[in-house]
Amino acid sequence: MKIVVCIKQVPYIDQLKFDHDTKRVIREGVESEINPFDKRALTHAIQLKKEVGAETIVVTMGPPQAASALREALAMGADRAVHLLGREFAGADTLATARALAKALGRIGFDMVLCGKYATDAETAQVPPMLAEMLDIPQVTGVTKIEWDRNTFVATREVDDGFETWRGELPALMTVAERLCKPLRATPEDLQRVAELPIEIIQPAQLGDISQFGLQGSPTWVEAIESIEPPRKKIIRQASDGIERVVRETLDNLKREGLGGDWRLETHQKILAGNIRNNFAKSFWVVAEVIENEIRPVTFEMLGRAVQLADESGGEVGALVIGENVKRFASDLAAHGADKIYLAEHSALKQYATDSYTRIVSNAIAQYKPFAVFLASTANGRDLAPRVAAKLNIGLTGDVIGLNLDTQGNLVQLKPAFGGNIVAPILSKILPAMATVRPGMLERAQPNPNRVAALIEIPVKDVSSRVQFVSSERVTDEGVHLDDAEIIIGVGMGIGGPENIPQVEELCRALDGHIGATRKVVDNGWLPRQLQIGLTGRSVSPHLYIALGVRGAFNHTVGIQRAGIILAINNNPDADIFKQCDYGIVGDWQQVVSEMVKQVRMETGD
Ligand SMILES: Cc1cc2nc3c(=O)[nH]c(=O)nc-3n(C[C@H](O)[C@H](O)[C@H](O)COP(=O)(O)OP(=O)(O)OC[C@H]3O[C@@H](n4cnc5c(N)ncnc54)[C@H](O)[C@@H]3O)c2cc1C
Repeated sequence: MKIVVCIKQVPYIDQLKFDHDTKRVIREGVESEINPFDKRALTHAIQLKKEVGAETIVVTMGPPQAASALREALAMGADRAVHLLGREFAGADTLATARALAKALGRIGFDMVLCGKYATDAETAQVPPMLAEMLDIPQVTGVTKIEWDRNTFVATREVDDGFETWRGELPALMTVAERLCKPLRATPEDLQRVAELPIEIIQPAQLGDISQFGLQGSPTWVEAIESIEPPRKKIIRQASDGIERVVRETLDNLKREGLGGDWRLETHQKILAGNIRNNFAKSFWVVAEVIENEIRPVTFEMLGRAVQLADESGGEVGALVIGENVKRFASDLAAHGADKIYLAEHSALKQYATDSYTRIVSNAIAQYKPFAVFLASTANGRDLAPRVAAKLNIGLTGDVIGLNLDTQGNLVQLKPAFGGNIVAPILSKILPAMATVRPGMLERAQPNPNRVAALIEIPVKDVSSRVQFVSSERVTDEGVHLDDAEIIIGVGMGIGGPENIPQVEELCRALDGHIGATRKVVDNGWLPRQLQIGLTGRSVSPHLYIALGVRGAFNHTVGIQRAGIILAINNNPDADIFKQCDYGIVGDWQQVVSEMVKQVRMETGD
């Protein structure tokens, strides 16, 4: 078996700084590492090599210094290292990167391609599905467990509410999530041992027409990036000053911010679904996501923004919905602003599957030629959108937090990078512009039940899939609720143990909030992994985030950058979380929380 592992060298993002004058990320002096997810992919490949005698080849495309990542991979145990190196590769977006890798892998040969779930610097998760599409092989993304039997595999992938298990045959591509395995470490002796081993170089011209690579071959480009580090108020109180008073004053502050009322009081602008629009030539499409027989809230959020963009540009709003008996969702989609609803119905489409959904979405786009297409930045949306983009050879911007039109009417997609401190406006050279949209970032329109949209049936001919669905395990739907939760209570190790979760849940009930967690809490099994917030968990954007016994490690706070207000409760006055919060109470979380629950209940009369 020949396993190719694609790796990326990434900077330690907690060391990066932003120069406000030059609007540049300062990379100088910042150390680099192999993307943490890629390390796990490589570790799995090396384990397989030991078990079944596979050949492992590690491949990267990057500047000359990326050779050190390849060298480290050799030291970890890879057999060969290949470096795609050359000026013409520089400035590539995800599509041009995947194209170069696909051409290289065509030369190298492979039975199995392993990649990380995403790279921590850009968090697009796009290159692997694009690569799989270009290689015309099936994929399973976000894999936490793989069992092998010669050429067949059974792989478990993490999704937003639990896990799914799929069976397939090689060749295939998989992206590896954090929990697949513990990464191997290369020791100084290992590095010494491989110091003289050759690294194979592939130059752009060896892969064909160089204009298809790098900046030139990229359908998207980035405008001037901006730093959006939100200033935090850092108003810290000591519980020892009188817990009753400190909690009351903190709650008063939160009420002024919107607690118990309308969080978006100042910025709130009601979006009206409007009359039915009709302009095929400028259609803003939303690919609806159905989960547990319901339309996922992010679909309505995308529709809300599509309504505004269509009104601004004289266009229309289309919603594409795929699944079994999905016609029943038409009235809800119309009420939220869809003017035309494209329906792809088949009993075999009940379960999301990459192959069949890719075929349907790309055929529909090719036929109706929308101006822009938005999908949800969820486990399935991120699995699907890059494949569609690669199939149609169009650009894709992943995980956007905002969508605008510039003065020429081009779609500007705002993408956070480097943990959300920086926002890059991205434009597409090719239509349709396509983006996945982060849940909880956009506002839905006021539903109007009187709207009646035109229904367009999409013929479904081929529902085949190269990987077969085996089973799914629903761990919690709380993870899905985190998408658009107004209040999230993030639990850290400071809560002491799982026996104290009920007390946190009491606060959740009092405030109508949802529970989230740090990685350590999840690793200890106190809460399901779907609730992990942070670098290797999820990013959330509630109006209020309450950090209970959370230290405030960068790897966690990176996931709460977009929270409106942060309240930290920690008994250590020097905890990092106090440097990144709006309000803080230094004290024992249990005392603060029970006082808080008491005061909230007194006020609401519950
Ligand atoms: C590659 C990588 C990826 C990672 N990804 C993530 C990620 O996605 N998400 C994530 O969360 N972490 C992630 N981590 C781990 C992260 O670096 C931290 O280790 C973790 O967030 C710390 O969790 P914690 O704050 O719950 O625990 P601790 O560091 O143990 O902090 C507990 C806090 O509770 C406070 N405390 C203790 N008792 C009380 C009390 N009675 N009342 C009030 N406060 C109390 C303490 O003062 C302390 O500040 C990652 C790490 C690595 C290396």
